Amino acid sequence: MGAQQVADRFAELYGAAPEGVWAAPGRVNLIGEHTDYNDGFVMPFALPHQAVAAVSRRTDGVLRLHSDDIGGGVVQLGLADLAPGTDREWTAYPAGVVWALREAGHEITGADVHLSSTVPTGAGLSSSAALEVVIALALSDLYGLGLPRWKLARLCQRAENVYVGAPTGIMDQTASACCEQGHALFLDTRDLSQRQIPFDLAAEGLRLLVVDTQVKHAHSGGEYGKRRAGCEKGAALLGVDALRDIPYDGLDAALARLGDEEEVVRLVRHVVTEDQRVERTVALLHAGETRAIGPVLTEGHASLRDDFRISCPELDLVVDTALAHGALGARMTGGGFGGSAIVLAEATDVDTLTKAVQEAFAAAAFTAPRVFEAVPAAGARRLA
Ligand code: ADP
Ligand code: MG
Repeated sequence: MGAQQVADRFAELYGAAPEGVWAAPGRVNLIGEHTDYNDGFVMPFALPHQAVAAVSRRTDGVLRLHSDDIGGGVVQLGLADLAPGTDREWTAYPAGVVWALREAGHEITGADVHLSSTVPTGAGLSSSAALEVVIALALSDLYGLGLPRWKLARLCQRAENVYVGAPTGIMDQTASACCEQGHALFLDTRDLSQRQIPFDLAAEGLRLLVVDTQVKHAHSGGEYGKRRAGCEKGAALLGVDALRDIPYDGLDAALARLGDEEEVVRLVRHVVTEDQRVERTVALLHAGETRAIGPVLTEGHASLRDDFRISCPELDLVVDTALAHGALGARMTGGGFGGSAIVLAEATDVDTLTKAVQEAFAAAAFTAPRVFEAVPAAGARRLA
């Protein structure tokens, strides 16, 4: 959706042109899954799919929200009434951002918002973070808050954790706020230090496919929370602040100390090996050995499937079929229980691979998947 279209629709809805138009992308996580709430490493990149919002300030303590992508008209909320846990609709995401900004002491006196997004929802591509970050950036700009990107991400995470009630880590919001075109973002979620890693697959004759299984995950559902609690239990049993503090070469000793806590053992093993996979991926990309990251991605999938246990038959089918048809690597991406998988492949294998996955889904009587190529795009920015 172009900036002009979104601005035009804003003017139709609210009777005047918006003060500005902003965009924030969805993301794909290349490697580093379920590490962000363990103070570990992640490596997302931004998608060309993005949320675009036209926004104007108000002075009367009113927030008006409209999404092109959701049925229903303009929703009007009073800023004084915003309170965590009171809204179960989509409006909780933008309202939560306004709440978090105000709670942090920023004087927001109201806003009119119209938005439209091309990020598929519930597909593991972070439509929620795109929505939060586009609102946060717009308000930071309009109200002259000058918030650095990492801080915007923190406020958005707070909105999602506290206001919406979804216990997500910091990756999605940071990816949407901080990614750069042509790069993956190597993020240390402990101190939010970041490195932009050049990630230009096309130049090497490679492609990264996203396969949206169309199986909708439910993020605030209990399974995510259970994994998170299990990781916290592991850290407590091992006497560390977070699983990040277990070094890879100390993993066996740590697992031995956990004894018969079988579930915690599996969770800890995933998180510690996954952090190491992120570091290996960064090292391989740095060395120009892009094809060699394929097996690392595939290992990550096995760990999520067998140890973390958050895959599903559709995701496994994508990975198995892709690998059987020449993919260099493949894995589920995002929170799990549905959503999307990524496939790293030679450009010349893409057509065969895509067809094979589609046929396998048809043979299994699964809903047809949506396949698209992911090229690292720009992070959040002002469009007009
Ligand atoms: P994901 O972030 O993986 O797409 P989530 O469950 O975290 O999935 O967030 C999806 C929710 O975000 C939707 O159910 C909806 O409430 C909200 N959302 C995302 N995009 C839009 C949009 N364009 N308009 C309105 N709400 C949206
Ligand atoms: Mg989300």
